[in-house]
Amino acid sequence: MSILDDARELAASGPVCDACLGRAFADRSFGLTNAERGQSLRIAAALDDDEPYDAVETEACWVCEGECARFDEWAERCAAAIDDVEVETYQVGTRAPPLVEENEILLREGAGLPDDAGELFKSEFNREVGKRIGRLTGTEVDFTRPDVQFLLDIEADTIEAQLNSAFVYGRYRKLERDIPQTEWPCRECDGSGYKGKELCDYCGGSGYLYEESVEGFVAPIVMDVMDGVEAKFHGAGREDVDALMLGTGRPFVVEIMEPRRRNIDVEQLEGDVNAMADGAIEVEGLRLATYDMVERVKKLDASKQYRAAVEFDDDVTDEDLQAALDELTGATIKQYTPHRVDHRRASITRTRQVYDATGELEDARHGTVEIHGEGGLYIKELVSGDEGRTNPSLAGILDTGAVVTALDVIAVEGEDESFEDDDFFKD
Ligand SMILES: [Zn+2]
Ligand SMILES: [Zn+2]
Repeated sequence: MSILDDARELAASGPVCDACLGRAFADRSFGLTNAERGQSLRIAAALDDDEPYDAVETEACWVCEGECARFDEWAERCAAAIDDVEVETYQVGTRAPPLVEENEILLREGAGLPDDAGELFKSEFNREVGKRIGRLTGTEVDFTRPDVQFLLDIEADTIEAQLNSAFVYGRYRKLERDIPQTEWPCRECDGSGYKGKELCDYCGGSGYLYEESVEGFVAPIVMDVMDGVEAKFHGAGREDVDALMLGTGRPFVVEIMEPRRRNIDVEQLEGDVNAMADGAIEVEGLRLATYDMVERVKKLDASKQYRAAVEFDDDVTDEDLQAALDELTGATIKQYTPHRVDHRRASITRTRQVYDATGELEDARHGTVEIHGEGGLYIKELVSGDEGRTNPSLAGILDTGAVVTALDVIAVEGEDESFEDDDFFKD
C-alpha cells in the first residue's frame, strides 16, 4: 500500500479533518504541520484519481470532533491565564478526551494501519497550542523545568497554569548568637501559640522558641518581592543556635512557590534584607538560581572552618597547646554521636578529618583555636573529648578538661569545587 492508498482509506472512514488525517503520517518529512500533511495527501489523491477535491471542515471531523480547530482558542486562554505573571519558559500538557483517543485507534484500525501510526492527538495539541502560546507571550518552550506548566483538559474545558518555584541563592552571616537558621516552632504548642484557649506560656504565644531566625529575616522579603505563596529555606548545613556564622558566610537557597515575579533586582533585595535584619544577620552575593541549586547546597561536600574560645581546667602552656594542635592537624578523628545531638539519630562512630588546627592562649586557662575540618566534624566534642566519645581530642592530648565557651563558623566551602558554579545560576 502506498501512502496515498493509506490516506484514501483513512479519508473514506467519514469526515476526517486535515490534522487528524495528517497525524497518522506525523513521522513523515519535517517542517510540516499535520494539517498540511493531511491537506497535501488529500490533494495528491484527488489529482491521482482525477476527482474533484473535497475539503473537510475541521468542525465536522468524527475523530477529534472539531477540537483541532481550537488551537488558537486554547493558546489565547493560556496566555490570558499568565497575563500578569512573569514567565520566560512554558510547557503544555494535554489531557485528551477518552473518546477522541478511542477514535484515533478506530481510524487507524479501519485503514489497516498500526494503532500508534504517526503521533497521538495530545502530542499534536501540546505542540500546536505551545507554538501559539510562545508567539502570543514571547516565551519559550522548556521540556525540563519550565516557569509555567499548562495542563489542558479538553473534555472538562479547563486549563491549569502551574507556576514552578523560583530560587534565590546567597550566603548569610549570623552576627548575633541565639538565632536559629530556620524558624523553630514551639514544641509545647506545636507553633500555634496556644494551649487550648490560653496563650502558650512556653513561647509567650509567639509559637516560636526563638523570635528571630535567619529564615525569618530572609524568606518573607524574598516571598514578598517575588509575590509567591510560600517560601522554603535550604541551608548548606547549619551552625549551632549559639554559634555565630562569620567570614564568607554560609550558602543558602530560598525557594519561592508559585512566584508571580521572577526577574527581581537581587541587589535591591540584598539591601532590603540587610536593612530589615539591622545587623542581626547579613546576606551577600544574592543571585537567581536554578532548581538544581537546592540539591547542590544541601548535598555538596563542604569543609568548615571554625573559631572556638576554649577554657581549660588546668594551666596550659603555649608550647603544650601548639604541640597538641600540631598533633590534631591532619588527624583522623573518631566521633561517637554526641549526647547533645538529636537522639532520634542513630548513634554511630564516624571518622572525620582535621585539615588544620591553629590557636593561641590568652592566659593559662583561656585560648582561641581555629579548626578547618571535614563537614560533619563536631568541634565542641573535638575540644572536650565528650567523655571519651571523641578521639583524639584537644582535652585528651593536653590531659585536662577543655570546653568551648563560644563557637563561630568562619567559612563553609565546597571540598572539591565552589558552591558558586555558573551552571546553577540564571543570570
Ligand atoms: Zn479532526
Ligand atoms: Zn508555644
